[in-house]
Amino acid sequence: MRSSIWHPFTQHGLAEPTPLVTHAEGAALYTADGRRIIDAISSWWVNTHGHCHPRIMAAIAEQATRLDQIIFAGWTHEPAEQLARGLLEIMPAPLAYAFFSDSGSTSVEVALKMALGFWLNRGEPRQRIVVMESSYHGDTIGAMSVGARGIFNQAYAPLLFDVATVPFPTAGSEQVTLDALEHFCTHEDKPAAFIVEPLVLGAGGMRIYAPWVLAAMRAICAAHGVLFIADEVMTGWGRTGTLLACEQAEIVPDILCLSKGLTGGAIPLAVTLATEPIYEAHFSTDRSRQFFHSSSYTANPIACAAANANLAIWREEPVLERIARLTRLQGEKLSGLQGVANARQIGTITALEIEAPEGDYLSALGPRLLAFFRERDLLLRPLGNTVYVMPPYCIGEEDLAAIYTAIGEAIDAMRG
Ligand SMILES: *Cc1c(COP(=O)(O)O)cnc(C)c1O
Repeated sequence: MRSSIWHPFTQHGLAEPTPLVTHAEGAALYTADGRRIIDAISSWWVNTHGHCHPRIMAAIAEQATRLDQIIFAGWTHEPAEQLARGLLEIMPAPLAYAFFSDSGSTSVEVALKMALGFWLNRGEPRQRIVVMESSYHGDTIGAMSVGARGIFNQAYAPLLFDVATVPFPTAGSEQVTLDALEHFCTHEDKPAAFIVEPLVLGAGGMRIYAPWVLAAMRAICAAHGVLFIADEVMTGWGRTGTLLACEQAEIVPDILCLSKGLTGGAIPLAVTLATEPIYEAHFSTDRSRQFFHSSSYTANPIACAAANANLAIWREEPVLERIARLTRLQGEKLSGLQGVANARQIGTITALEIEAPEGDYLSALGPRLLAFFRERDLLLRPLGNTVYVMPPYCIGEEDLAAIYTAIGEAIDAMRG
């Protein structure tokens, strides 16, 4: 059967198989050809409580009978109001306003635009953004500009804006990162903001750094009046063991981006949270100072209802206990693997490198690994030779054991 669909991050010329999924439940996906696939990466990091969580599905169905979609510029609705209240209740206090959009990338665009608007409206225009090496913030032009440059975006490089980049804080060399950040923050071309993925860089290869470094970076930005943007699109909603990764460093950003797990991973929605001064800088009787951003589906009521169900699950179910259980199991399974290079873990995420002659994303090993895991009915999608496991919190021990057995086999097979 030939399809006219052009898939993301897919080289159709290679004619690799494209499994057709008919339904999903918990940590399992079911295909049209009768296979049960273990979702070891939470369907690309979005799913937290498992697929088709009954409360989220019911909330979507219920909302769909009342209000499907409504313009959000100058109008509001209860699911969005309830969601904003619910979010601000569980997010750290200085974050006081919620701006909705529809993907992680747009939540980042919104954050960058808020930062520039903040400085412009205060009469001190600033444009420069400081970023961390190997970061990923999304695939739109602005989000790509603040992310790592490479094969993914070299065709668009002329359109990307310049940024100042601090090195990744490798263990033992953290001071180099902090010095670079301090240098940029005290430069005469003052940055508007520093944007960072707290504690773990996702698409950059699941690179983990210590909470004290995050706290020190936050302190440098605060000391020099540079806005601190935390992109918790991947790390939010418990991935690193706490609701937010920022909690582990006891910091609060000026602007916070959330998406992926916001609806439990069921339906697209994003939110950019901002502190009072950011909102205040746009608050005026002068329309030219308003925040100029929207997308058609901003705060879609059905998506907001799904997010409200996610918040109810966090309030009423033992989510942190499930995360602690998965964290423990992940640690046990990871330490059971032999001959692993650079094994690491943060909360529910584990990662390791499979030794290869060349370790870049397009190396032959990546596709070989992908096929290896696909043959074993596992949804694992290595980043080059980096294999990581990031399952829904409800995954069973048997499924987890199957994942690590396959990884162990892959280590042996790729070596030979
Ligand atoms: C996935 C991701 C994004 C982009 O989110 P999309 O919903 O895919 O646009 C941004 N930042 C981080 C840290 C991410 O992991």
